[in-house]
Amino acid sequence: MTESNENLLYFLDDKPYINMTNACTNACVFCVRNQKEDVQGAKLWLDEDNTSADDVIVQIESNKEKILKNKEIVFCGYGEPLIRVNEVIEIAKYLKENYPNLKIRINTNGHANAIHKRNVAQELAPYIDSISVSLNGENEEVYNKISNPKIENAYEETKRFIRACVEAKINTTASIVENVPNFPVDVERCCVIAKSLGAKFRSRDFIPNGY
Ligand code: SF4
Repeated sequence: MTESNENLLYFLDDKPYINMTNACTNACVFCVRNQKEDVQGAKLWLDEDNTSADDVIVQIESNKEKILKNKEIVFCGYGEPLIRVNEVIEIAKYLKENYPNLKIRINTNGHANAIHKRNVAQELAPYIDSISVSLNGENEEVYNKISNPKIENAYEETKRFIRACVEAKINTTASIVENVPNFPVDVERCCVIAKSLGAKFRSRDFIPNGY
């Protein structure tokens, strides 16, 4: 199989990430896509946004040695990885079978069950180790200002997805981004919400250059 020219696999500080798609059902104010076209020199915008699992697996195999120096690989790129949930499951399954010591994490906006109209958390659970879901705010109003969602009831759907991941026994973290200029978030309240959903909580600082 010919290797794709796109950066489906990229490294950030030598850690491996998988870039599935440009598409996203949010348009977050802090999204790296608003700030730059590359991440540490890797152009992440996909010219042909029709990545197959095999396209990614070929790039994984080409970078095997570098990947094996790491403990974890993360699905996190320019768009929302779980828009391509079937491909993500196929790749994660491949990684579990061929790289058994590598932990697999997904960073997601939490809209997957709403998009696909089925419980994908249950489908992902056998193949991934952890998931980080962008809670982004303490209520719908704050969430909508920060995330600009393109789906209905996105905040409630995101919280439901966090709960579904916890129930599927995935190590689940609800995350927010703090100190985004003009977009304050009630960190304490977000932490309480994350805990009430059974998830861990993580707040990270906004980084102006996007990572
Ligand atoms: S959910 Fe992620 S990829 Fe989508 S707009 Fe927000 S930060 Fe960007």
